[in-house]
Amino acid sequence: MPESLTEAFDPARARAIGQALRVTQERVAAACVAAGRPEDATAVLLATKTQPAGAVRAAIKAGGSLIGENRVQELVAKGPALADLPHQAHLIGPLQSNKIPAALRWADCIQTVADLSLAQKLSARAEARPAPLEVMVQVNTSGEDTKSGTQPAAAFDLAAQVAGLPGLRLTGFMTIGLFSPDAAAVAKGFAALRAIRDQVVGSGEPGTAGATHLSMGMSGDLEIAIAEGATMVRVGTAVFGPRV
Ligand SMILES: *Cc1c(COP(=O)(O)O)cnc(C)c1O
Repeated sequence: MPESLTEAFDPARARAIGQALRVTQERVAAACVAAGRPEDATAVLLATKTQPAGAVRAAIKAGGSLIGENRVQELVAKGPALADLPHQAHLIGPLQSNKIPAALRWADCIQTVADLSLAQKLSARAEARPAPLEVMVQVNTSGEDTKSGTQPAAAFDLAAQVAGLPGLRLTGFMTIGLFSPDAAAVAKGFAALRAIRDQVVGSGEPGTAGATHLSMGMSGDLEIAIAEGATMVRVGTAVFGPRV
């Protein structure tokens, strides 16, 4: 048994995580209602980077069902310690080709597909599996050079090509919002992702009809993202506290 399972996780810390998750779920539901959407329109994905497996276990036991890791190494390291708890793991950070086998072993969805060559390699590997690998196309909607993702102008073509690959199932789109106190500017990026999603889903291209997810919004901007149609917000610090 992995060491992290035999080691007891501080019960007070586990309770605090559960409490913060409930507060976050209520915040998300309230934002959905405020946006005129059903209160369960947006799922919470726990962004677990740098958190020990014990903290992630506490969050899943408190009702979290989706986790997101930024690094394949962390997926691999924590995967065995989470295997007995029902959940889905998504990769929400960049994927290098040499890590594809490990990512396929531990991730249920790769949210960060941003170029065709990576998608083709993933598809080739995933074709041997009984079910296609779920992926999202990551779009750089903020225009910031430091952020990953395909450019908005290239997103439609990439998504149509990804959706046509036999080993993959395109489930939607992901973006990291503009880091800014200007809510209108942040909202504009999220609206751009929604417009891309609507164009792709409505295109009639093979494999695109189910690409409905919008993974956008984090602890600081989830209300803005939900108002713009987020179906999944990725929340770290609001549940786990500041990363150390
Ligand atoms: C860390 C991270 C998040 C969560 O950010 P918080 O501000 O801690 O909620 C969401 N998405 C990605 C891609 C991240 O790296």
